[in-house]
Amino acid sequence: MTTPLVPDHTTVPRKRPEGPINLVGLTRDGLREALIDQGTAEKQAKMRAGQIWQWIYAKGVRRFDLMTNLSKSYRADLAESFVIEVPEVVTKQVSDDGTRKYLVRIAGGHEVEVVYIPEEGRGTLCISSQVGCTLTCSFCHTGTQKLVRNLTAGEIIGQVMVARDDLGEWPELGVSNPPEARLLSNIVLMGMGEPLYNFENVRDAMKIAMDPEGISLSRRRITLSTSGVVPEIARTATEIGCLLAVSFHATTDAVRDGLVPINKKWPIADLLDALRAYPKASNSERITFEYVMLKDVNDSDEDARKLVQLIKGIPAKINLIPFNEWPGSPYQRSDWKRIKAFSNIIFDAGYASPIRKPRGEDIMAACGQLKSATERVRKSRRQIEAGAGLRTD
Ligand code: SAH
Ligand code: SF4
Repeated sequence: MTTPLVPDHTTVPRKRPEGPINLVGLTRDGLREALIDQGTAEKQAKMRAGQIWQWIYAKGVRRFDLMTNLSKSYRADLAESFVIEVPEVVTKQVSDDGTRKYLVRIAGGHEVEVVYIPEEGRGTLCISSQVGCTLTCSFCHTGTQKLVRNLTAGEIIGQVMVARDDLGEWPELGVSNPPEARLLSNIVLMGMGEPLYNFENVRDAMKIAMDPEGISLSRRRITLSTSGVVPEIARTATEIGCLLAVSFHATTDAVRDGLVPINKKWPIADLLDALRAYPKASNSERITFEYVMLKDVNDSDEDARKLVQLIKGIPAKINLIPFNEWPGSPYQRSDWKRIKAFSNIIFDAGYASPIRKPRGEDIMAACGQLKSATERVRKSRRQIEAGAGLRTD
């Protein structure tokens, strides 16, 4: 058996354990080390890594034979040891509102969903960090799917790469395309999974997204959403530096315990302390408080007033998310009038309180509706069979 050339967590997905290493997802240092292990002279490795990096991340090239600034024999050597692979797109659905949802397959045959949301003059890609989720927030469809595994850094940045493929957004050789002119200009880690339970891979992937010689998105165009993994919050600022969103959703521990069960481990007071200390928070880099509007659960005027009191002193905006239903979901969306009234109280207290427009609902691409399609089919089949008295489990 061949010894792995670089530590395993940075080399997956591989085709076979002993197969070629996938370069997608390696950090710059990881790439340089992989080249040295493959036989590239140490003195040249940094420069070669830089050249290959630009082919992969600035130009979207997936074949070594196209890397024309490398010698032919070196390209052939590289092709023997390495591959440049991104997740496979299994299906693509386009919503009436232009939202695109991709189901992508990763190593092991697992699937995750990726959603592209076009907006006026920009576009946001919502990416996943895990297959399923260990947490079980009661209003979230992903939460009904057990955690299968963490995504690798390559699988996380690979979602951005497949979306750029589909949007036709790799620049022509020699042409730069600044983020403000791009279809895919922002990334949100708001798909499947809890990103702070897969910290290193998320960090490495986002470093790749921000690298100025590659995809080159500013850290301010990346938002990581967490359900409140308190011990990892400070690291998000220092090691990634992106913007932070927090799934807040309630103003008392009793209600939040029932919605976001991680609250039992890190209750509201602990979470707020971590947010107050968030090193990057400022008026220009406010923390987003996500608040899902659930009818008669968390949507009263009193909740709105309490929320404003709780977040006092934290540079914040409150993003109100009308609840998106999914098959079997136990909640209802608050009425529009209620959401407006809630929003007004927060706005009057001096905070921005945008109401998130549900996007891609017709293709189940809206917040909290994501779940691997195979899982969904399995579940609904079970439900149908149970309903027909065919199964009792
Ligand atoms: N696990 C992370 C990121 C993924 S969820 C987190 O929990 O923050 C992205 C956002 O969608 C979160 O704010 C989540 O609470 C919200 N969400 C989940 N299910 C939803 C639903 N059914 N309707 C509306 N928003 C939902
Ligand atoms: Fe997981 Fe986030 Fe869904 Fe909670 S809301 S179950 S943390 S994906």
